[in-house]
Amino acid sequence: MRIDSRYAPLFEPLRIGPVTTPNRFYQVPHCTGMGHALPKTLAAMRAIKAEGGWGVVCTEYCSIHASSDDHPFPFASNWDDGDLVNLSAMADAVHAHGALAGIELWHGGSYVANLATRLPTLGVRSMLGRTDPFQSQRMDRADIRRLKRWHREAALRARAAGFDIIYVYPTHGYLVAEFLSRSMNDRADEYGGSLENRARLFRELLEETKDAVGDRCAIATRFSASGHGDEHVSGDEAHDLLGMLGSLPDLWDLVVADYEEEMGSSRFVKEAAFESRVQHARALTGRPVVSVGRFTSPDTMLRQVARGTLDLIGAARPSIADPFLPTKIREGRLDDIRECIGCNICYAYNFRGAALRCTQNPTMGEEWRSGWHPERVAPGRGSVLVVGAGPAGLEAAHVLGKRGFTVTLTDAERAPGGRVTRESQLPGLAEWARVRDYRTGQLNRMANVALYLGNRLTAADVREFGADYVLIATGARWRRDGLGRWHAVPMPALTGQILTPDDIMGGARPQGPVLVFDNDDYYMGPVIALLLARNGARVCYVTTEGKAGSWSTHTAEQLRTQRELLESGVEIVVNQAVERFDGSKVTLGCVYTGRETVREATSVVLVTSREPEDAIFRELVGAQGEVDGSTVVRIGDCRQPAIIAAAVYSGHKVARELGGELHVVPRARDRVIMG
Ligand code: ADP
Ligand code: SF4
Repeated sequence: MRIDSRYAPLFEPLRIGPVTTPNRFYQVPHCTGMGHALPKTLAAMRAIKAEGGWGVVCTEYCSIHASSDDHPFPFASNWDDGDLVNLSAMADAVHAHGALAGIELWHGGSYVANLATRLPTLGVRSMLGRTDPFQSQRMDRADIRRLKRWHREAALRARAAGFDIIYVYPTHGYLVAEFLSRSMNDRADEYGGSLENRARLFRELLEETKDAVGDRCAIATRFSASGHGDEHVSGDEAHDLLGMLGSLPDLWDLVVADYEEEMGSSRFVKEAAFESRVQHARALTGRPVVSVGRFTSPDTMLRQVARGTLDLIGAARPSIADPFLPTKIREGRLDDIRECIGCNICYAYNFRGAALRCTQNPTMGEEWRSGWHPERVAPGRGSVLVVGAGPAGLEAAHVLGKRGFTVTLTDAERAPGGRVTRESQLPGLAEWARVRDYRTGQLNRMANVALYLGNRLTAADVREFGADYVLIATGARWRRDGLGRWHAVPMPALTGQILTPDDIMGGARPQGPVLVFDNDDYYMGPVIALLLARNGARVCYVTTEGKAGSWSTHTAEQLRTQRELLESGVEIVVNQAVERFDGSKVTLGCVYTGRETVREATSVVLVTSREPEDAIFRELVGAQGEVDGSTVVRIGDCRQPAIIAAAVYSGHKVARELGGELHVVPRARDRVIMG
């Protein structure tokens, strides 16, 4: 196997306590929406990462006891021997590819609500949780003793399940972080007061875990090297803690104080953004250090190791977007890397209680139930015409090309990429062009795929072309009539300059007071408002929701979205809908009372809903619609306007199925069956 020597330092083994990782690629704990609920799905997904060359593959947050239940989010659990069976399946699957398996033992403390188990939640003091009107029970000494026992038992089960690296987890606002926090921890006993006392539980858990399993397992800890803000753990205190506890764990897994920054999307946080805040930890602790930074560039990774900032390249999202990233670097196949675009769709679906998915990697989460491998496809034969080179068409052409079909990919525009080409011009979305660039990079090297641009096809052209299969991937257009979640029928009273996101992406720049009506409530409304404000317009952003871009709460972008709008001078009006526009005045209606108010505006941008561009498809399939066994299939936004990840998935799925049964329901279902 060819090995690219430039990156050899990334492929050196490293000793971590009693275990040795085969290389420097470390998949840090990340949530999956699978957890305890989908153990087979989870084991197969983690195994693919190990197969792709990640030297360490960790679980997500893994509850040590029933008093820490994050329902309805599918957290991992390590409560009993039943869990041990599921956890072993993951550890074995990871070991089968020569990687180490890590487990992040977790107690949620006051943060969770224990909606499933109904046990009282436990806290350093009695505090409100994140979402529900429940407060935790203040822990007394007996509770602390019990907690330590549960942690020890969980560590022993983890070792029995075969895990090599076991975490103590004092971050992200969970139980041990409550003890560390100077504002939450008001205890007068030996667990409160001085930094040493607040860190006592953390220290004891490190020592006791080491005592329980340290003979065979490395002890890791996840810690914010720059503190958690002065009200919790100041930067100086974090520095002191690194010094005080430095050599107790075998590995420091470093994060930064602000979770929204740690999980920051590419709109707000760029690659390697934490470097300056973690670089001191290695010298202070004398232990190996891993940290994340949405690393996708091998040179940036190499720099981290060469400079001595990090020993291990931590990754969650880059390992999701490309489970084979380490293998591709090792083999010098850098153009084959499917770079994460930083959209946080992976993160969002955990928060929707659904299994992990990824915009760039449509096989993510489908390894077990659909049997999809991120790098391998079955061979096939035939000619395919793909109409539309947006994310769906590009992905379909790419997979079909790989399968050996003769593919003709066409687009009306002179550049490929469809919506990602347009949207990546919007503020903060430049990295989204990677969806296009990865696929065009692959296609350009395939002799059996031809790309024809600047050619708008008609149904007659398609018939005349005479391919064995036709995929219609012509996308969708934003509606100009206000129909959306709020208005179930087109708005009758709209006169004056009405614009859509397509107009703005096409170059329209209204100058007068502009009102952006967002009834889509994800990124499009806010980024259009931002673009127009930066272009000098007075912008009023209106939503029927209670905050700007409310769905982006799931992608950890909402706070920064709203802050960015406010800081850019955009006026945000919530809980209102546009009812009428006469060219100079917009009438808004309150979503609760219906009370109307009037705003001045000379243009209105409607970000409401989209209409599939499916005219060619309908003409080709006729009045009856698509029939079983049809050779004309629609994919992506033209079938179902949705997020980019859905279009890529749709193109991928049909491309895998072409030549056999289409639109199949995934072959397997992960669930509990009564014994
Ligand atoms: P998706 O997200 O489903 O891939 P997009 O809207 O991103 O959809 O892309 C659709 C692409 O299809 C656009 O680039 C558009 O130019 C192209 N397209 C639409 N109609 C035609 C047509 N009649 N002939 C060729 N290309 C078309
Ligand atoms: Fe990256 Fe988006 Fe995939 Fe998450 S969903 S791994 S952020 S490309």
